[in-house]
Amino acid sequence: MKQGFAGLVRYHVKRTAITGGLEAAHLLARTRLLGEARGRGAIFTLHHVRPKVRRAFDPNAHLEITPEFLEEAIVTLRRDGYRFVPLEELSACLGSADTRPFACFTLDDGYRNNLDHALPVFERQDVPFTVFVTAGYVDRTHTLWWETLADLLSACRTIRFDFGTGAENVASESLAEKQAAFNRIAAFVHAGDEARAVASLNRAAGRHGIDPLAITERLTLDEAGLRNLIRSPLASLGSHMISHRALARLGDREARREISGSAERVEAITGRRPSSFAYPYGDRPAVSPRDHRLVADLGFAVAVTTQPGMLSDAANLHALPRISLNGRFQAARYVTALGSGIPFRIFPRGAG
Ligand SMILES: [Zn+2]
Repeated sequence: MKQGFAGLVRYHVKRTAITGGLEAAHLLARTRLLGEARGRGAIFTLHHVRPKVRRAFDPNAHLEITPEFLEEAIVTLRRDGYRFVPLEELSACLGSADTRPFACFTLDDGYRNNLDHALPVFERQDVPFTVFVTAGYVDRTHTLWWETLADLLSACRTIRFDFGTGAENVASESLAEKQAAFNRIAAFVHAGDEARAVASLNRAAGRHGIDPLAITERLTLDEAGLRNLIRSPLASLGSHMISHRALARLGDREARREISGSAERVEAITGRRPSSFAYPYGDRPAVSPRDHRLVADLGFAVAVTTQPGMLSDAANLHALPRISLNGRFQAARYVTALGSGIPFRIFPRGAG
């Protein structure tokens, strides 16, 4: 309870700081006080694009934006001088004499709403985009632990969970308790053997009548859905591993097998080897210099992280920064702020 409250306070302080930073960056961008901070361009990260459904407990709210906000973001970036290019053209753009800023759109995990709700917006606005596909979701062999966990905690007042030292009761009655339980289990997933932690979560979900693979089925595109998506010339597919585990914590052989296996799975759908890769989670602990070398060795032209920043000519093509369009900050002025590059000058470690 205490930990949950402290966690909530930390979250709100951090969120307030980020909001304040974005508001300041928006003003600076409008007054051009900080000059040209945006470099050559930016890659934007999206996950779910769907109409908002209000949920009492919504720990993944940052991972979804509405179709209306996606359209507003595109219109805003265009007004701010951006042109939109496919990720496949990124390396050519970095070296080119055309200095107009460019933006690439990417969507991680392969959600059904990318086809149902994002594609119509991209088509209306004529904007190319890349969907990073997790092979284990396409084939319904792997689960999305953060979605499973959100559903489980929403449905239960207490859960039985094994953190590796025997099953224990974890309180999940109040919203603060649910958030504390979410944070604790998320930390457990990120701390050690991710496959074992996710298996433990899936067993806990099963005991409470929740089928994690049914969540995969409900939320993500299968092969037929992906084939529908790529009928649009604006859509392309990239790799996002088989199991969606943090690459940096896998041994060499397993890492290699995951990367090349996911490339083969995409190739089986599109008929050609994917040229782009997105590191699952993509933050500093999840991606190591070994991983940059592995994806380069295995033939990917570019690989993207979720570490925030703008693109420069000197960018490492296998550790590219991206800017998240965050569901908690859905306003045009935040898009202008992010697109200005100013937040990454003010907060070099990232604006969230
Ligand atoms: Zn992902």
